[in-house]
Amino acid sequence: MEAEVYHKYSDFLKEKHGAKTYKLSINLPLTCPNRDGLLDNRGCYYCGEEAAGFESEPSESIRDQMLDLKDHISDRYNAEKFIAYFQNFTTTYQPLSQLQDYVKKALTVEEVVEVVLSTRPDCVSDEYLQGVKQVVNSSNDKIDLSLELGLQSVNYHTLKKANRRHTLAHFIDAVKTAKNWGFEVGAHLILNLPGDNIVDVKENARILSALEIDTVKLHALYLREGTEFARLFQEGELEIISQEKYIDRVITFLEFLDPQIAVQRLLGRAPDEGSVFVNWGQDNRQIHQQIIRQMKKRNTCQGRKFNYLQGSCLQKFAEE
Ligand code: SF4
Repeated sequence: MEAEVYHKYSDFLKEKHGAKTYKLSINLPLTCPNRDGLLDNRGCYYCGEEAAGFESEPSESIRDQMLDLKDHISDRYNAEKFIAYFQNFTTTYQPLSQLQDYVKKALTVEEVVEVVLSTRPDCVSDEYLQGVKQVVNSSNDKIDLSLELGLQSVNYHTLKKANRRHTLAHFIDAVKTAKNWGFEVGAHLILNLPGDNIVDVKENARILSALEIDTVKLHALYLREGTEFARLFQEGELEIISQEKYIDRVITFLEFLDPQIAVQRLLGRAPDEGSVFVNWGQDNRQIHQQIIRQMKKRNTCQGRKFNYLQGSCLQKFAEE
């Protein structure tokens, strides 16, 4: 089999669960402290009304949402095991008892082997994670737990410019807390937020590697109608880097990333309807293919430049 140029999440899941495993996205009627006025009411400047919940209808019950997707995915991809993926808004920003109830319902779906909670780094606490873990531990089956944290960039100024209203410190704290409770940790990054450059891209990879996170999901910035970034873009005050530069950034990021970290996506997607800009008007799979082709052409792979931890300056003595 041809060697992979990056560590694919599908392989990571297959190794972990011993079978083809897919996420079942759950869409809940939630909000976020950056939208309800606790921190702000404008949200992150790229976040649309549905906050990434494009795949299911929040009006359906959790079990129905999961069963619909499960049928579809089982037929199409021969999936055997499944992940209950609480993906939209900030899933740990609700009363703990409510989330516990949702998780219990998700665990009634057969062949679910993992629960993934997607959230902001400033909505993670010992008390909360302990409460979720208790529910999962009370199930008869062995269920893994993961937290996916929206970081987007390690650069303080970029986060401020995007109105994220948290910093890298919140992310580091959330990673430590999650690991203490036995959760795996994933990070979401947008590699082309306004203000970031290639130096930030490398530092993103270095920090995630140093923190030994488990998975990462990359996004190219897309602009949903009605967002502040869409307004700035339409008024010519926000530029988006070219597709070629985005591809370069992804490759550089992967080169600096620990090869142990599994990569969920090289770029995201959003419906054209209701969007002002999505992936340079191209199918995300085509751009994905271009990235892989470029990596092969450059004879590079994930982790090729992962040589900067564990006292990198001491390597010269080891070589003597
Ligand atoms: S934290 Fe997430 S849900 Fe909240 S405004 Fe930002 S992107 Fe949207």
